[in-house]
Amino acid sequence: MNVCVYTLGCRLNQCESEAIADSFSQEGFTIVGEREQADLYIVNTCTVTSKAEQKARRMIRKFASSAPTLATGCYAQVNEEELKTLSDQVIVVPLEKKAHLLKLAKHLKASLVAGFDLKSGCLSFSDGTASVFDYDAASFSYHSRAYLKVQDGCDNECSYCRVHIARGKAVSLESATVVERALALEAAGFSEIMLTGVNLTMYDHTREGLGGLLEKLLASLGGGIRLRLSSLEPDHIDDRLLKALADPRMQPHFHIPVQSASNKVLARVNRHYDIEGLSTILDRLREAKDDPFIAGDVITGLPGEGEEEFEATFRYFQDQKFAQMHVFPFSPRPDTPLFKAKDRVAESVRDERAKRLRDLSDELFRAYVKRQSGKETEVVLQNRKGGAWYGLTGNYLEVKLLNAPLFAREGLLVQGHFAPYDEKGGKPLVLCHA
Ligand code: SF4
Repeated sequence: MNVCVYTLGCRLNQCESEAIADSFSQEGFTIVGEREQADLYIVNTCTVTSKAEQKARRMIRKFASSAPTLATGCYAQVNEEELKTLSDQVIVVPLEKKAHLLKLAKHLKASLVAGFDLKSGCLSFSDGTASVFDYDAASFSYHSRAYLKVQDGCDNECSYCRVHIARGKAVSLESATVVERALALEAAGFSEIMLTGVNLTMYDHTREGLGGLLEKLLASLGGGIRLRLSSLEPDHIDDRLLKALADPRMQPHFHIPVQSASNKVLARVNRHYDIEGLSTILDRLREAKDDPFIAGDVITGLPGEGEEEFEATFRYFQDQKFAQMHVFPFSPRPDTPLFKAKDRVAESVRDERAKRLRDLSDELFRAYVKRQSGKETEVVLQNRKGGAWYGLTGNYLEVKLLNAPLFAREGLLVQGHFAPYDEKGGKPLVLCHA
């Protein structure tokens, strides 16, 4: 029987989906992609933007027209009733019960043997014991790298955010268990592990912090593994963490939710850092790594963002030479303090600003790739298309490999150097060492 796990939103959702898919494949179900016909769909939703919610509704309707569809994740947590009305084939599993899905495959297998159909099997399932850290995948169906969840929830209350409402307070997986799981992934042959959480820098932040966890991981893992961090909120990046990031196994790729480069706007939306502090962090990251790939999230049209504040943000990203920007036009989320903000920015202005930043991001990305020409790199092979291998470099560039080795396989780590970049398009090229 075919099962499709379709994921929206952040890397944490992707990590949790992989663990759910792994639990199904361990029980003999076949995991398929969204374009293949499945007997059961699981949609892991996101509530960060209204666009993500719209897409979730569209995909759930589409999948439910042909098979039972379980809807779970942050959106399912905050709007259960809305999703229920999409189709009578939809079963909503709120976020607080999402980890129960890890045990559903076993139950379904038994109920199918007993003659129940899949929908009745899903409806008759109940399991009261699940932790947010039960997601512990041994295999990954939708990615060639391993994901390891180490943190959940968030104690910040950014005024535009619904994630901390859906996910609750910050919790961390005990460091000994993180190390144990990482060692198991290394032993299973993964070359790269991405650590994920809702707010990774809030990992154990009242004690040893993310820096303390990285020290333990780096002391336990071998020299051939790569570690990557999903994203780094600026407010808990401390000396210990910055020191650990200098280890060569830590990949030169950092994703920072900057949101605005105006201190006035940051304070207005209850972010807990200022732009001068962020600049110091960026300098330290560049001291730790040679020209790291630094991506930044930015929200245009936040309440209080006038022309001056926007121009400051534009200049900041330009001057700091970010390699890429993820631009989100602000959409007020129900139940958040900014939902009824009076100092809203007109949508046309918000969208025009988003366009300018996206154009800037394209420019910055091309400039970043261009200056990699001739540099040494390591690539994890991801897939093969039209006779060529494609993979991901340590600095998070998706590249095409020239002269990949004959023994190439998904997940293999190969060495090479960047060929000159052709700005007209296509993926950056890497020449493998013989
Ligand atoms: S740091 Fe802010 S935006 Fe990120 S999850 Fe926490 S409250 Fe939401």
